Amino acid sequence: MRIDLHTHSSVSDGTDTPTALVHAAAAAGLDVVALTDHDTTASWGEAAQAAGEAGVTLVRGTEISTLLDGSSVHLLGYLFDPDDAALAAELDRICNDRIPRLQRMTALAQSELGSQVTWEHVLTAAGDAESVGRPHLADALISLGEASSREDAFDRLIGPSSRAYVPKHAPDTSTAIRLVRTAGGVPVVAHPWARGRRGVLDVATLGRLRDAGLVGIEVDHLDHDDATRAELSRIADELGLVPTGSSDYHGHGKQGYGLGVCTTSPQSYEAILAAVGSNGVNPVP
Ligand code: AMP
Ligand code: ZN
Ligand code: FE
Ligand code: FE
Repeated sequence: MRIDLHTHSSVSDGTDTPTALVHAAAAAGLDVVALTDHDTTASWGEAAQAAGEAGVTLVRGTEISTLLDGSSVHLLGYLFDPDDAALAAELDRICNDRIPRLQRMTALAQSELGSQVTWEHVLTAAGDAESVGRPHLADALISLGEASSREDAFDRLIGPSSRAYVPKHAPDTSTAIRLVRTAGGVPVVAHPWARGRRGVLDVATLGRLRDAGLVGIEVDHLDHDDATRAELSRIADELGLVPTGSSDYHGHGKQGYGLGVCTTSPQSYEAILAAVGSNGVNPVP
């Protein structure tokens, strides 16, 4: 069984449509794929329809932008009731705030960085995305020849220390964990120690998040080196958290993060399914 529990489609900042992504997952030899677009469930319907045709099991999910003591933490939520009012309202709030936030970043890119980018360029880059984000601003900068890749744009122009950076609304991590659990879903912290987050999510903090209802942590992820994976695996064991793995695929938006490049063990997948509440949803088909 090959199981990849974290991917993005063009409904957020990936480049494959949900249908194309599900078919690509089958072609890559995956048995199970989770679609986890940022802060939205808008891709669920299309992906579920494609999963039946493609012959791959779809785990419907999302990757929620949260804040822990002011630092960004990404929380994967799996198989929750998409109609749960409290969680749906919070996802709407995050997703809707992404638009004025990116408009402000676009204006600052002009005034602070001397960029030629306009909101029209960003909208063109975003296409049909329900959840807009910095990768779309990066794509607009690439189309203008002002950046060579998303990586380059994040490094030089739109990273958190840039003069064009604007934070977006995000709920507290433990609040988001409770919202996912109450909606019958399973919360897992995405790439906990990627990009210097090690200090934010130490063992004591992860223990507190577990007490708030956290079920798992992503261990096998390209943003973690081998030593980091070994240490996180030990911590998962110690705290009784389910260790998972994923590609964090973004289509051609993130080079090297191919479908199935990191995977989740069948035991961990079973543990996630066992944690779904009675009001949660099932994998498809
Ligand atoms: P946002 O949520 O709008 O702040 O954008 C964050 C998204 O940008 C995340 O989904 C990441 O996958 C993506 N991202 C962050 N850093 C990079 C990078 N260096 N290169 C490409 N994508 C990135
Ligand atoms: Zn992303
Ligand atoms: Fe993430
Ligand atoms: Fe992601």
